[in-house]
Amino acid sequence: MDSVIQRNFDVAVIGAGPAGIAAAVAAAESGARVALLDDNPAPGGQIWRGGAKSSHHSQAGHWLDRLSNSSVSVLAGTRVFYAHNGALEAESDDSLWQILYGKLILATGARELFLPFPGWTLPNVVGAGGIQAMVKSGLPINGKRVVLAGTGPLLLAVAAYLSEHGANVLCICEQASFSQLCAFAPALAAFPSKLIEAAQLRFRSRRAPYIMNAWPVAAFGKERLQSVQVSENQRCREIECDYLACGFHLVPNLELARALDCRVTNGFVEVNEFQETSQPGIYCAGEPTGIGGLEPAIVEGRIAGYAASGNLNSAKQLLATRVRYKKVVNAMKKAFALRPELATLAKSDTLLCRCEDISFEDARKHASWRAAKLHSRCGMGPCQGRVCGAAAEFLFGWTIDSSRPPIFPVRCSSLAASSLPSSPAQRHGGSQ
Ligand SMILES: Cc1cc2nc3c(=O)[nH]c(=O)nc-3n(C[C@H](O)[C@H](O)[C@H](O)COP(=O)(O)OP(=O)(O)OC[C@H]3O[C@@H](n4cnc5c(N)ncnc54)[C@H](O)[C@@H]3O)c2cc1C
Repeated sequence: MDSVIQRNFDVAVIGAGPAGIAAAVAAAESGARVALLDDNPAPGGQIWRGGAKSSHHSQAGHWLDRLSNSSVSVLAGTRVFYAHNGALEAESDDSLWQILYGKLILATGARELFLPFPGWTLPNVVGAGGIQAMVKSGLPINGKRVVLAGTGPLLLAVAAYLSEHGANVLCICEQASFSQLCAFAPALAAFPSKLIEAAQLRFRSRRAPYIMNAWPVAAFGKERLQSVQVSENQRCREIECDYLACGFHLVPNLELARALDCRVTNGFVEVNEFQETSQPGIYCAGEPTGIGGLEPAIVEGRIAGYAASGNLNSAKQLLATRVRYKKVVNAMKKAFALRPELATLAKSDTLLCRCEDISFEDARKHASWRAAKLHSRCGMGPCQGRVCGAAAEFLFGWTIDSSRPPIFPVRCSSLAASSLPSSPAQRHGGSQ
């Protein structure tokens, strides 16, 4: 039987990426007792995974040091599966954590968007961020032929990382057009450091051709991937490779925000000037409020941390900086908007929900995400729709508007010890 640990904090922060670290540090430095929870073994989130040494970002060392010198209680390897007003529940390897909080900050980040195409479930067809994480965890990549495909700045970052670790990156297929990317340039120009970073990434991945108007059409192989067909400026060509790493930009992790009834507008959590959501006392920072990269995540985290700990003067000093960064967020959204052709890649028998083996056709015949779940079990497997749900939003225009706890699969012993209500009526405060 797992041990049940109960703790009480002024501020609980969920997610120890840049936004969550900045929020926790700001709140602790303002005098609050702070808990920072993250499901990874160490703080850092997606970009600083592996610590300061494995990161090219000078900010990693600064923030990770500041965190370790602060009074923040870091609960790493602890996954929050349920949160409600004033309390959250999380599972670590051997314990169930029940955290009582005064204020809550959601800094749950984003994940990659994957879109289905024939062959996308073959072994060695992986996520772009996923392959980077696997290499950071020890996957040998030296000499392997990799095709990177999809959209967004992450492709460039991954190409640079893989190239430096000995991979033979054959090409970077970016679905956006030249004109879309050119329109992004003025927003970037306002931030010379971002321009320099982009140029450095391209220099580090310079051996790989960067092809615009290009996307994967099908992946082929018997037991594992052998080649990929890409559409490149309206012509198809087949490329032999060992890995196809795809990512169609990022989608925010909204499950906790939705479970807490925070208002979500146009796919992102709505916040006020102090990063407070529509639920009083619940704040949100980083990618769930808009995909914009490291800098907006940090500034939003700081504002949320100061505001949640009552240090409004410090929060106010950062508001103008956030306005500047939000311009990049908006420009990025336009630059990497997905082209409609990507919604036509899947064939009838292409899997959409890989957890429950539901094909594109079996899902498409339903009128909504809810109907598809009820009738076909689409999205009801271990990933709880994190992959197919986001794809279905793009493919069918469905809205995913609710999230039911536990938001991750948990051990039976955790469920038994948890205060998680057993019926939807109870979860919404009614009687059974
Ligand atoms: C796969 C991937 C790879 C990336 N690689 C790069 C890169 O190489 N270079 C780059 O510039 N940008 C990269 N990015 C983008 C980068 O992560 C963002 O720009 C920015 O740093 C986001 O900061 P954040 O704090 O909002 O989110 P994140 O850094 O994503 O941090 C969110 C954290 O919350 C945790 N979390 C979420 N839900 C829960 C829960 N219920 N319980 C416990 N913990 C939870 C997550 O595990 C994660 O550690 C990557 C993004 C992704 C998705």
